[in-house]
Amino acid sequence: MNFTGAAAIAGVMGWPVGHSRSPAIHNYWLRKFGIDGVYIPFAVRPERTREAIHALPSLGIRGTNVTLPHKEAAFESVDETDSVAARVKAVNTVTVREDGSLYGQNTDAFGFLEALKEGCPGWRSDDGPAVILGAGGAARALAAGLQDAGVPDIRVANRTSARAQALAGEFGPPVRAVRWTEREDALAGSALLVNATSLGMRGKDDLEVRLDALPAAAVVCDIVYTPLRTGLLRNAESRGNRTVDGLGMLLHQARPGFAAWFGRDPSPDQALRDLLATGLKTEPS
Ligand code: NAP
Repeated sequence: MNFTGAAAIAGVMGWPVGHSRSPAIHNYWLRKFGIDGVYIPFAVRPERTREAIHALPSLGIRGTNVTLPHKEAAFESVDETDSVAARVKAVNTVTVREDGSLYGQNTDAFGFLEALKEGCPGWRSDDGPAVILGAGGAARALAAGLQDAGVPDIRVANRTSARAQALAGEFGPPVRAVRWTEREDALAGSALLVNATSLGMRGKDDLEVRLDALPAAAVVCDIVYTPLRTGLLRNAESRGNRTVDGLGMLLHQARPGFAAWFGRDPSPDQALRDLLATGLKTEPS
């Protein structure tokens, strides 16, 4: 890696941060474009999030991604957010603006929609209802993205139904809560099913959902990326549904930060996909 004293600096804050794939993604693009820049993992203790984020302008750092457990504290620490972060109440991308103020984005919705359009070019937001399994941070971002995209009916099912109800209450129609026990019935007539729970991850229980009611034309996405080919995707493929795995979202969610800090909007190429996919096969979740 080559960078000079004039290098543009960005990074990712997490605790722990060693599992983050963001340095591999951003430093790949920095090398590819020959940018004088560097992207660093910052191990920031949870009680120091605000202090670390507020130090960015003084250090001349252009911005950072923010991963667990800092996303909510980052939301509280920035001066302004985009509309997705405002609804999710979590920020995963912080940019230092010219005047030194801090702008927070949640790029998961963008990443998911870009990956969906790339994986299923024919998908349209008005194809029909979407079913989201989960009501955690990722699910909230997906609900915001699908709401903004104009999906007419967004059905959210979560094990803890109070969280799904809270999400639906905060977001408003077309987002609505469905009981976890009724998640299979909710698939009837839908055009999109997304797993945004942590079920199906390596080391976790499998996601149990019978797909009998799901139309053959529906697209099935799993944002879990360890492993990339989850049981849900295998089941969906075996009955002829088109599928999208979690790698595209992981790559595309990184683009807005890279563009803001380093001045180029990169498109994930096959070499980067291969690099990440190889790592994800072997790394623990
Ligand atoms: P989170 O906020 O911790 O939410 C976890 C979700 O999983 C909650 O809805 C939780 O339900 C549900 N869940 C956990 N254990 C369950 C079980 N045994 N049965 C039923 N539901 C269960 O996590 P997150 O940040 O939203 O992330 C969720 C998943 O998305 C993770 O696998 C993460 O790696 C993945 N993700 C991928 C990307 C990408 O770029 N591809 C980006 C972000 C996240 P309760 O509310 O009932 O606990």
